[in-house]
Amino acid sequence: MSDCGLVKRRFGHRARLALSSAEVLKADGQAHAARTMWNCLHAWWQMMPKEKRTLANADAAIRQARQDIDFLAVLPAQAAQAVLKAYFQAWKNCWDGRADAPNFKGRLRSVMSVDVPQGRDLNIVRVHRRWGMANIPKVGRVRFRWTKDLPVGKRAGAENRITGARLVKDALGWHIAFRVQTLEIKPEPHTGPEVGIDVGINVPIALSDGETYEHGEWLTAKEKTRLLHLEQRAAQRKQHRKPGERTSRRLHRTYDQIAGLRAKAKRRALDWQHRTTTVIAKQYGTVVVEALIITNMVKSAKGTVEKPGMNVAQKSGLNRSISGEAWGRTVTILTYKAVRFGGTLHKVPSPNTSRRCSACGLITPGSRESQAVFVCRNPDCGWSGNADHNAARNILHLYRMGLALVPAAGRAVVRRAKRVKPAAAR
Ligand SMILES: [Zn+2]
Repeated sequence: MSDCGLVKRRFGHRARLALSSAEVLKADGQAHAARTMWNCLHAWWQMMPKEKRTLANADAAIRQARQDIDFLAVLPAQAAQAVLKAYFQAWKNCWDGRADAPNFKGRLRSVMSVDVPQGRDLNIVRVHRRWGMANIPKVGRVRFRWTKDLPVGKRAGAENRITGARLVKDALGWHIAFRVQTLEIKPEPHTGPEVGIDVGINVPIALSDGETYEHGEWLTAKEKTRLLHLEQRAAQRKQHRKPGERTSRRLHRTYDQIAGLRAKAKRRALDWQHRTTTVIAKQYGTVVVEALIITNMVKSAKGTVEKPGMNVAQKSGLNRSISGEAWGRTVTILTYKAVRFGGTLHKVPSPNTSRRCSACGLITPGSRESQAVFVCRNPDCGWSGNADHNAARNILHLYRMGLALVPAAGRAVVRRAKRVKPAAAR
C-alpha cells in the first residue's frame, strides 16, 4: 500500500443516537443481556476443567443459554458471538501481561454496550444534512447525528468502508461508535522541530521550548457547588435506607444527576486534550514523552496487606491528579495525531527526569524548591526555572542521547505480526 503513497487508516467515529423510549428499553435489554452473557461465560470458564475451556465448547454453551434463558435471547446472535470473542481476547491480554484477569461485570460498574460486529448489516444512509439512519439488529431502523462524512453508499468500497459498530450508553444516552476503515494519502514526513513534553501536575502540559498549555477548572464554581450538594444528598438518602431496601427512584435520580455533572467535566477535559494535542502534532515533527506506567503508580501507593504502602494519603492525592489530568489518554491521542501529520512520537525512560538539572545534568539534593520551582544546587551551575519545563528539557535530552524506547508510533513502527500465539498462552 505504502509504495503508491496511500496508507490504510482505521479509526472510530462516535455519533449520538436518537432513540424513542421503546427503542431505549430494547437497547438497555440487549446491553444487560450482553453483560449477563459475559458473567455466565466467566462462571462457565471457572467451572470447567482446563482442557475443556475451548472456543467450540464455549460457543455451544452460549447457544444453549440463548435457547434456555428468555432474556438472553433478546441479544442478537452476532452480538453474543462478539461477547465470546471479547472474553477470550481478555484472557489472551491477561496471559500476555497487558491486563488483569477478566472478572465478573457488575451492573453499576460496567459501561452498557452492545456490539454490532458486521458493518454490512448496518445499511447506513444519509437522510439529511445532519441525520443518518442505520439498522440495529432487534431494535430497528434508527436515526443518528451526522457530524462526519462516513464512507457509505457510492463512496464505500473494499478499502473505504464501515467494518462494524458498537452501541455505547453514557450520561447523554445511547451512542453508536462506528469502526471506519479508509485508504488515505500518506502524509509527507513532518519537518518540524523536536520537542520534549512533560505532562505535569503544576502545569498540565509543559514543552521543552518553554511553551505551556493550561486549562481552567472543568466545572464552574456553581456546578461544583451543585455537585457537592448532590453528593451530600445521595449520602444522606443512602444513610436513611433500611437494610435490604431497594434503592429508591429519588436516589437513582440523584445518582444520574451526579453522573451527568461528572460526565460534563470529562467531556470538557477531552475537548481540551483534543485541541491541545492537535496544535502540538501540527507544529512539531518529533514528539518525545515520558514512558510512565500509571497503573503501577496508582497501584503501588496502596501496597499490599503484607507490605502496606508508604505515605498513602499523599500518594493517592498525586494519583488523583494524574487520573484527573488523564495522562495516559493525552499520550494515546498524541500518538495517533503525530502519525496523521507525518511526525513521530517517542517514549523515553522516566526515572529522575524531574530531579535532574537540565543544564548540567546533575541530581542535587534539595533542588526542588517547591512543586513548581527547580533550582540547581550545583555551585558551578545554579540554573533555575519552572520544574515542569526542566523535566521537559530532560526528556528531549534523553531522546537526543538515543535512549528512546521502541518507537510507539510513526515512520519507524515495529509491530509484532498479528495472529502469532504468544509464548505465555497456556
Ligand atoms: Zn545544574
